[in-house]
Amino acid sequence: MTTPDGPETPEGGHALEARAATAQRKAYAPYSKFRVGAAVQMSGQVFEGANVENASYGLTICAERVAVFAAALAGAHRLEAIAVCSDASPPSSPCGACRQVLLEFAPDPAAVTVTAINSLGERRAWTLAELIPDGFSGRELP
Ligand SMILES: [Zn+2]
Repeated sequence: MTTPDGPETPEGGHALEARAATAQRKAYAPYSKFRVGAAVQMSGQVFEGANVENASYGLTICAERVAVFAAALAGAHRLEAIAVCSDASPPSSPCGACRQVLLEFAPDPAAVTVTAINSLGERRAWTLAELIPDGFSGRELP
């Protein structure tokens, strides 16, 4: 069911985690060596992302945002779930910037599951609402 080239049909949570682990292998992290993969399910399709670092460190982008932006580029704008895979123990949760980007595409943050896994088989999960309570959204803009 997995192809390296593009969006997929909806998958279960463990399949999403497997896609995040696959994406982790695509990370470009020559400086930090902190390799992260992400898989988002948006509008019924799955998109992968991996962190991409830059010699100008501030230009580095996280796996989560790469995946979300790939989805947005394909016209998928409704976030349903995300899985993130790193080698951290316990598994890393998305950074603040990524939480804000995830919120942008989550009409109901309490319904979005965020799962973090690592290569040791450890797993943590939250709702997006738990990770960014009272977050700023476009609903507050005029
Ligand atoms: Zn991030």
